[in-house]
Amino acid sequence: MCFIYPSTNIPSLRLTSSHVVFLSGLEPVLYNCCINSCCCYLGPNADLECCLHYDASQFCPSSCIAHQKFFYIPTIPYLVPFYKNPEMHAKMQY
Ligand SMILES: [Zn+2]
Repeated sequence: MCFIYPSTNIPSLRLTSSHVVFLSGLEPVLYNCCINSCCCYLGPNADLECCLHYDASQFCPSSCIAHQKFFYIPTIPYLVPFYKNPEMHAKMQY
């Protein structure tokens, strides 16, 4: 948007993302994933060099940069306080 409408004062995507993280408190966790988005290199797949389903490398050639990243937002740490609060717990049972 800021490239299409340079006269407007729209903040960059990076700055907007930073504001969202600050305001919501939800910080995404990045994981490497297959370029075809079919698997995530996590847990039992953490040490794989290539995808199990396609012959696609995890990393760009001659670098340690992943082809693609998966943005995971962990929600359980934010739900736990709701369950510990009796009033919110009752509302969540509805
Ligand atoms: Zn794959």
